[in-house]
Amino acid sequence: MNDIKVAVLGSEGVGKSALIVRFLTRRFIGEYASSSDCIYRKRMSIDARQLNLELYDTCSQPCNGKSSLNDQIHWADGFVVVYDISDRSSFLTAKAIVQLIRELHLPANKRDTESVIFLVGNKQDLCHIREVEREEGQKLACECRCQFYELSAAEHYQEVLLMFSKIVRSASLG
Ligand code: GDP
Ligand code: MG
Repeated sequence: MNDIKVAVLGSEGVGKSALIVRFLTRRFIGEYASSSDCIYRKRMSIDARQLNLELYDTCSQPCNGKSSLNDQIHWADGFVVVYDISDRSSFLTAKAIVQLIRELHLPANKRDTESVIFLVGNKQDLCHIREVEREEGQKLACECRCQFYELSAAEHYQEVLLMFSKIVRSASLG
C-alpha cells in the first residue's frame, strides 16, 4: 500500500490545525491548542487505490526553526502552505516557505510533474478585514506553479475536503 506524506505549513494561527481537524472529523474546533508537531494517519481510497495518508501538523515557527522546516520539506511528498487572508505577514511567510520548497524539494523530486504545492488562503469568512487580495494569492501561486485555494476552515467543509483530496492525489502521482 502507498504511503503519502503531506506537510501542512505556515505561520502560527493561520488555521493549519483547524483545517486538518475539519478534514479528518468534519468539525470546526474553535480553539485547538497543541504545543508539539504531530502526525495524523488516515486510510484513503483515491481513484480506487488504497493509500495511507500521513498529515504533518506543524507548530514549530517556520521563520525561527529553519532546520526543522528543512526536515519537514525533505520528509513530505506534498505541501499545503497556509496563510490567513486577514494577516499580511502570514502571506509573506507563506511566500518564503513556497520558495524554500521549490529550492529544496522540487529539484530532487518532481519538478516537471503536476504541482505538489498547494497555496491556501484560509479564513475567507473574514473577508471584511482582508489584508491579502485574492488576486495576490493567485499571482503568487501562478508564479510558483502552485495550486491555489481561498477557503474557510470555519465555513467551507466541502472545499476543505476537496483541497485535501486533491493534494493527496497529486502527491501520490509523483
Ligand atoms: P494554527 O496555529 O495554524 O494551527 O492555527 P489554529 O488551527 O490553531 O487556528 C488559529 C485560530 O484561528 C483559532 O482561534 C481558530 O479558531 C481560528 N481559525 C482557524 N480557521 C479559521 C477560519 O477559517 N475562520 C476563522 N474566522 N477563524 C479560523
Ligand atoms: Mg496548530
